[in-house]
Amino acid sequence: MSILKIENLEAKIGDKQILKGLNLELEPGKVHAIMGPNGAGKSTLSKALVGHYDIELLGGNIIYKGKNINEMEPEERALEGIFLSFQHPVEIPGVNNAYFLRTALNAKRKHEGKEELNSAEFLRLMRDHLEMLGMKSDMISRSLNEGFSGGEKKRNEILQMLILEPDVIILDEIDSGLDIDALRAVSEGINKMKDGKRSFLVITHYSRILDYIQPDYIHVLKDGKVIKTAGPELVAQLEDTGYDAIEEE
Ligand code: ADP
Ligand code: MG
Ligand code: MG
Repeated sequence: MSILKIENLEAKIGDKQILKGLNLELEPGKVHAIMGPNGAGKSTLSKALVGHYDIELLGGNIIYKGKNINEMEPEERALEGIFLSFQHPVEIPGVNNAYFLRTALNAKRKHEGKEELNSAEFLRLMRDHLEMLGMKSDMISRSLNEGFSGGEKKRNEILQMLILEPDVIILDEIDSGLDIDALRAVSEGINKMKDGKRSFLVITHYSRILDYIQPDYIHVLKDGKVIKTAGPELVAQLEDTGYDAIEEE
């Protein structure tokens, strides 16, 4: 049984069709990596899964936990446990990072019928994670992503993931532009979230992060479709021959 099943998905941005009949199934507890050339539609796929308003679905189905979510609002998808770390996290001046995160967490807890965390309880949780991720404590009081370095933004995305504890985690180029220490911290955060139940969709251009987080499956996305699915051994082949040599299965 898959936690997320994407059937024949077709989607456009503006006037341009980007996803052209994409099929993909995420298994519970598994790490799925998506690799593919620039412009193939990787970010479009990730946005389609969280219901981003730039994307218009033209056909196909997104089935999450057995239910079609094509029409579900982005906020609802987040409450239901779908998380996306954007390739380019937005800066939101004036919105305090800790306040933002506590609001998001408490909305999710409420949705799940759990008690909300007060600010002291939340700060304790946030501090534990900051330390683990090697982030400075001023991340609590700063505005969301404002003036954050590339590495700080990506660590902050992982912080959100750790705190929100989603069931499906989509990471769009979480590794791009990271130095080796940031890559380690980010990978450690991801590995900490592996619990045998939740699923990961890791979009990347580089095999480096895959050394740390050990994917179960590699999917090649090209021209709006998944053209090949294989085990981790495919990474070495891709490094060797590039995407052009991969034929559609
Ligand atoms: P990838 O993440 O695989 O590099 P994207 O999904 O970002 O690819 O982009 C797929 C195609 O959609 C590209 O040709 C890109 O130029 C186009 N595209 C992406 N975002 C927009 C947008 N907001 N408006 C118009 N075209 C877009
Ligand atoms: Mg790209
Ligand atoms: Mg992209």
